[in-house]
Amino acid sequence: TTTQKWNFGAGPAMIPRSVLERAQKGFLDYESTGVSLMELSHRSEAYEALNNKAQQQLRQLLNIPNNYKVIFMQGGGHTQFAAVVYNLIAWRHEQNKLSHIKGANIEKWTQIPVDYVVTGSWSAKAVEEARRLGANVRVVCDAKKDLGSYKGIPAESTWKSSDPEGELRKGDKAQGLTPAYLYYCDNETVNGVEFPFVPSMHDPDVPLVCDMSSNILSRPVDVSKFGVIYAGAQKNIGPAGVSVVIVREDLLHTGELNDGVMPVPLMLDYKTMAKNNSLYNTPPMFAIYMASLVFDWLLDPAAQRAQDGEKYYVKELVGVEAAVARNERKANKLYKALEESRFCRPVVTDKAVRSRMNVPFRISAARKDDPNAVANKAEDEAMEAAFVAQAEARGLLQLAGHRSVGGIRASIYNAMPEEGVDVLIEFLKEFEKQYS
Ligand code: PMP
Repeated sequence: TTTQKWNFGAGPAMIPRSVLERAQKGFLDYESTGVSLMELSHRSEAYEALNNKAQQQLRQLLNIPNNYKVIFMQGGGHTQFAAVVYNLIAWRHEQNKLSHIKGANIEKWTQIPVDYVVTGSWSAKAVEEARRLGANVRVVCDAKKDLGSYKGIPAESTWKSSDPEGELRKGDKAQGLTPAYLYYCDNETVNGVEFPFVPSMHDPDVPLVCDMSSNILSRPVDVSKFGVIYAGAQKNIGPAGVSVVIVREDLLHTGELNDGVMPVPLMLDYKTMAKNNSLYNTPPMFAIYMASLVFDWLLDPAAQRAQDGEKYYVKELVGVEAAVARNERKANKLYKALEESRFCRPVVTDKAVRSRMNVPFRISAARKDDPNAVANKAEDEAMEAAFVAQAEARGLLQLAGHRSVGGIRASIYNAMPEEGVDVLIEFLKEFEKQYS
């Protein structure tokens, strides 16, 4: 007999079994068409219906207002790091030109500021890409600088972006130098830091852009507070290859002014994609199909009940409401077990910003209950390696931390049942016994 596998990978991540089974059917014969979904024309009625359905489902799940477009784009998070820069600078540049601000120094798009809040390695990567593309990047908050490492979120009042009359922004508006956007990452997948709030103090003229790759659909979100929300699919949505982008309509540049406005590469252009209903070119059909099956799964009360199983079922909930309740329970019990453990320490000590999706922790032979214990790096790393190997043998997969930081990381996205977290906690206790 094979042991049941629990996949704690950070992405590509676990996909519900029932979704994989449905995809397997559609793989051979898509809705009785007699051909695989991947053989259908993307211009066929069947595919267009699927495309529209997936968009509708996401609208329903996230309660997306009508003045927002939902688009599916090829590529992942990194693709969106660039798309955001191109699209919103083009939009802002156009706004500046159209508003004819007197004396405004707005000839060059490279002068338009773009503001970033850096709370972990993915927002840092987004900054890197914006700089690479030549944008005038301003890091308005750097958690590593402020806190010594990516282990928290500095108070919003300390960010340099908030006040249009503050040090960083004084006189900007008159010169046509209002930032194109304020960017942040809602959940830092590597560092395990998640925003417990939506930034509020920013200038209403500056759209908020958010990377929700690793926590979209895990809790409700007030979309109306955002200019752009994007997410790569391979954590809470489906397989890699597609990203969902939710963009406020008025932020789509018109593309009508082309004198000196930064051109947006077609494949990254929100406007082109929105205008063509995500069917400008051949979309990643299989990834979108899988996403739609995941949305079905979230919206189906029976599937949600099955996800809990008899043991964990509380009451009938669907969609993000079902996910948020379960995610809360899962994260709480895992952090509690880590706190109570003699050898494990959650990397993020500030409870307010601990991610409910990615739980990084360290294991050290220096027991927490022994005040004289001295940590030994080699010994600790050996213990962590033993933990990962033994977990693997027990069917608990992909628990090694991101290669940039090491340690252990348990990713517990929507598809991870509560039972999986209980199995992990049980294993953790057994593992400790070897060292007692
Ligand atoms: N943003 C976040 C929050 C992520 O977790 C990741 C990937 N793990 C990325 C961006 C980059 O995504 P991709 O590998 O699809 O480019």
